[in-house]
Order: sequence, then C-alpha cells, then structure tokens
Amino acid sequence: MKTSSLIIVAACALFGACSDGELASEKRVVVFGVDGFDPEMLQERIDAGMMPNFAKAIDNGSNLQSLQTSWPPQSPVAWSNFISGVNPGKHGLYDFIHVNRDDYGIKSSMVETDEVGMQMTLFGYDVPLTGGDSRSTRKFPAFWEVMSEQGVPVYVHRMPASYPLTESKAVVFPDMGTPDLVGALSGVAYLFTEDEGQTARESDSYRVERIKMKRRNENLWKASSRIYGPADTMINVDDLLAEQHAAEDAGDFAAANKVAKKIEREQEVFTPISLMVDNTGDAPVLAVDIDGAYATAKLGEWSNWVSIEFSMLGGMVPVPGYTRFRFVSAEPFEAYAVPVQFDPWAPVSPISTPDEAAGELADAIGPYFTQGFADAYKAYKGHVLDTPGFINESDMVLEERTAMMHYGLDQIDETGGLLFLYAGSLDMRCHMLWHTSDAEHPHQEPAGEYAGVAYDKQIDRIYMQIDDMFGELMGRVDELEKKHGEEIEVIVMSDHGFAPFRRKMHVNDWLVQEGYLVMADGKTKTGAHGLAGDDIDWSKSKAYAVGFNGIIINRQGRESQGIVGDSEAAELMAEMTSKLMKMTDQGNKVFTAIKRADEVFSGDELMHAPDLQLGFNVGFGASDECATGAVTGEGVIVDNDSRWSGSHLMDPELVRGTIVSVNGRDLSKDPALEDITATLYKLFAVEAPKNLDGVPLF
Ligand SMILES: [Zn+2]
Repeated sequence: MKTSSLIIVAACALFGACSDGELASEKRVVVFGVDGFDPEMLQERIDAGMMPNFAKAIDNGSNLQSLQTSWPPQSPVAWSNFISGVNPGKHGLYDFIHVNRDDYGIKSSMVETDEVGMQMTLFGYDVPLTGGDSRSTRKFPAFWEVMSEQGVPVYVHRMPASYPLTESKAVVFPDMGTPDLVGALSGVAYLFTEDEGQTARESDSYRVERIKMKRRNENLWKASSRIYGPADTMINVDDLLAEQHAAEDAGDFAAANKVAKKIEREQEVFTPISLMVDNTGDAPVLAVDIDGAYATAKLGEWSNWVSIEFSMLGGMVPVPGYTRFRFVSAEPFEAYAVPVQFDPWAPVSPISTPDEAAGELADAIGPYFTQGFADAYKAYKGHVLDTPGFINESDMVLEERTAMMHYGLDQIDETGGLLFLYAGSLDMRCHMLWHTSDAEHPHQEPAGEYAGVAYDKQIDRIYMQIDDMFGELMGRVDELEKKHGEEIEVIVMSDHGFAPFRRKMHVNDWLVQEGYLVMADGKTKTGAHGLAGDDIDWSKSKAYAVGFNGIIINRQGRESQGIVGDSEAAELMAEMTSKLMKMTDQGNKVFTAIKRADEVFSGDELMHAPDLQLGFNVGFGASDECATGAVTGEGVIVDNDSRWSGSHLMDPELVRGTIVSVNGRDLSKDPALEDITATLYKLFAVEAPKNLDGVPLF
C-alpha cells in the first residue's frame, strides 16, 4: 500500500468524512502563484514598509529568493514548466503563439482543435456529428493529474495555460487561455457611449457602440443596443465560403475579406438590450433590461451580474452567459460591460473539473469571471477604458480572487491536500501601468489618481493589495494549523519578474534587411495574412519569426517550403547570433543572451521549438506585429508608444521570478519552476512521472 492511500484511510477513520471515492489527506499545502511578482520590486517594497505581511513572515524566518524562470519567460511557458515539472522540450509549449508550418500562419500554442468530420444538414443548418473537439496541447502530465490519481485532493483555483481542461480527479479552474462565451481569448468587452471622443469600432477584444439616449422623459432616459453572442457556425454558408476561397486563390484578399464579413453577418447572433437611466432618486441609476433580467448600478459603480441568453440554431439551442455593467457617466451617457462569461451553472463547454465545480463555486461566491485574462488590458490598450476604468475593473477581478481563495481554503480545511491559488492582476497592471512611473518611457500620459493614489504609485498599490491578500491567507492558515494541529506548508511563487519595455523590434523586418527572409517581387511588407499570404518568396527565405522570443529556420523536411539543411542551419544560427549580439540601439545592447533551442530545451518536442531563442535586454522586446508574423516596412527598432509599457519577454536571467518558502525551508540550490513541482510530489509522497526535470527543493 502506498503512503498516500494509508493517509486516506487514516484521515477517513479520524474524521469519518470520506464518502466512497472522495479523496482526503492529513497534509495541507498551499501554493500562492502571483503572476509577474518580481523579487527585487518585492524586496524594495518590503524595505520601504509597504508590505507588512511579507515583512512579518520574513521576520519570522520565511525565506525569499529569486526563482529561475523559463526560456522564454512568457507566462504560458513558465506556468507550463511548473504545471508539468519539465522544460518545454518535453511539454511542448514554447510561446503564446506557435507557427503552422504548412502555411507559415499562426496558431494557438495552448489549444488544438479537430476539424469537423461528418455533419448532417437540417433546415439549412450544418449539425456536426463528429470532430470539432478541442484539447490541451500539453504533452506531459500536470501535477494535479498525477497527485489526484494517487489519492491526494488537489484544488487548483485557476491556472494559466490549462484550458481546455484535461481529465483528472482534481478540482481545477483554468485561467489565461480560457475564452469568453464568444470564444475570444481576452474576451470582448462593450462600451455603450454618447461621448464624442469615442468612435464606433470593434476589435477582437472590444466593441464601442455609439448609442442615442432619448431624454424625452426627464425621469427615465432610454436607449437600445445589442450584445453579440458566438457566431452560429451551423448556419450553412458553403456558397459564400466557395466565393471566399476563389478570391483567395486569385490573390484578391480585399474581395476575400469582404466575403468574410458577409459570412460573419450571416452567422451573427445577438440579444437586444435596453439601457435606461432612472433619475427619480438623489443620483442617477443605470438599469439594463436584458429580456426581463435587470442589471442596476449607481453612477461610478458596478451592477450585479445579469444573465443573458443567445438563441442559436434558429432558437433550438439556447446559449446562456453572464455579464455586468459599470455606469461610467450620465452626461454624456456611457456604460461599460465586461465580456459575456460562461454561465457557471450551465457552461456550454467545460470550464472546471469536475463539471459541477464551476456551479458550486458560483453557489459560494456568485457568478464570476470564467474567462482567463479577466483584467481588461486590451480595452485599456485600445483606449476604450481610461486609467481609472482599467484599475477599477482589475480591482474587481482581484476581489473575486480573494473570495476564491477563501473558498479554496474551506476545501482543504475539509479534505486536506494541495491548494494552488493564482492572481494575474499584478502582471496585468505592471504591463499596462509601467509608463506612469517611467520617465524614460516613450508613452506618457497626464498625471492623475485613482482611489486616492497617484497613477505613478499604482504599481506600489497592487503590490500592497497582494500583501493584503497574503495577510488574509496567512490568517486563515494560522486558524487551520490550530484546528488540525498540523503545520501547513506555504509557498509563494511567480512565473517571472518585470522590466520596462521602451523599444520594440520588428524581428521579421530585421530578417528582411539582412536577407534571411526574402519578400516576393514588388512587396515591402506583409498584408492581413502575415507570412501566410503571398508576400514572401519562400524559395529564397532561410529564416522567419513567429511568436515573441524566437527565430525559426525554414528547414527542409519540416517547413512546407523549407530550404535549409541541418549543416547549413548550424552555420546560419551562429551567424545570426553573432550579428544580433552586436546589435545596439541608442547606445544600448538589444540582446544579452541568444541560445540555440538545443542549448536550453531537451526532450521529444525539441524539433518543434523556435530554433533561436531571443533574450532581449531590459527595455526591449519583440513587437506584437512580429509575433503574428508581420513584416511591417516600418524599420527594425521603433518606439513602443503603447500603454503596454512593462514586459518580461526578455533574457530570463533579467526577469527572474520569486519564491518565498513561508516556513523558512532551506532551498537547496538555485531554484527553478520545475523544482517546485518536484517538491510538491515529495511533500505528498507521490510517485513522480518518469523524466521529470525538477528536483525537490527540500
Ligand atoms: Zn505578463
């Protein structure tokens, strides 16, 4: 009998609480993951007296160290190293964005979707009978799969890069990578506005709807608008698709785009809403009527969550969701709505394991953001939200995380086991608000304040909010230790640190300049399809970039139009590395480290890695355009004049993560993300998967 099953038997005898099949453990471990928590920024703020709860823990013997992050130090990669305990060469996730080697277009690194197979046509609708399933791309088991299989209760209160969920006996809620109800990765937020400064526009993450508020009755103003649901892809558009493909084949992408828009309209699904302002009280109140369900909010505040349903397949299939509104301004009228979330009680696809966990959490804390990346960074980046609006929404997300933390602590109170908690708001605020306190940053905005705190002190404020959350956590941990008479192991960790991002590099433009990537005759930049269009002469191109930290060799036998053999690839990489390491911009080195994939990765997935890993210096990073495969024609290095002003997609040594062993364990070596996973296996006496890279820290 394994130790873990002995523990279960003992725990069941002791508490008499275990029904058939329920997992239990006497041991309790809490890991608090704070995305982007930087060890030096943390230490400075502890020293400045801003972080009393961390200061107290350190006075009591807690051990704070920097933590090795992943190559490249991107959140989905770093968290995947922790999830699996192995390097990307084994789990297979190398970047936010991967390349599709068939056509040099882009694909998600986290999700793979089967093509729809057989389908049935019914009343003009295509009903799929097979295929269309999506699944995680991870090639190595997650710690919660391994541990729960061996009898340990595991509660994962959100984890980046874990959607779609994998089967396990653990309770798991995914984060970053989990879409909203319409399938948008960062969610599609709404701004309903009369403000002359806002034009009607839409992107993959927001829609600005110009509305006309009718003020005929001074007590009750009214306007109507709509919220869009997921596209009804079962509406048959074969004729239009044929038209679109013909246009693409003829190289007429403008015509193809026009047809694509037509398809979008054909499959469009929306629910009408009424926006009202009630002026009968002391202050105006927003009331939004969605098919008889009401959201109400005072000026400057958030409404309740309100249900919204979309009618698909001509009304045969209802798709339920939830949203909530912020009443931004009465005159001119403006209201903001968060992206439509899955209905946690009736999700149209799984957003937790087991399925019912999503509804049980909502029973405890109310409806919540089921999407990952819930902080509205894209709406802020697109100037749909102002600085107070962005921080206000992010505060709401953090409050919700605190409620989830307490719920998770209730769970390990009952059954013991491992609780993982995740907060993403610090990362998002450091990305988006860096410009407010960096005088050297190309992006500058007028000063201001939110919640009585100047914009340039908002990064201090989010560190202090995390300190508050840690204080609440430790208060509960103390109670549980007393109640159960057992020490609880607590680890605080982050995936990486933070640095300024002032100048951005269009890596593909550099490759063109140096002759490694060759444009087709007469072309100087790529069109809407990036490298997948017909703008590149692949018969002469040796390298290209897709993603934020890599250069990919156009290899024979791997890329569909590959021309570079193995021996040439080695010379090519050495030559590019030497050029890049010498590159300077305004007197600063652009790179501090460049590695070949086989220097930093090992495992069966190595062949899928971008061949050169780019370790940018502090202040530099790849442009968004480059990450999606564009050649911009704008030059190689340009100002990053964006609210997205802090980053960590750099040399991993420059943006190390944080580890705090709250119980003051001696961490035996320079700790890495994978080592924490190995430590968890050891703490619960679980047999780790073969080929684990991590080594227990204590
Ligand atoms: Zn980040």
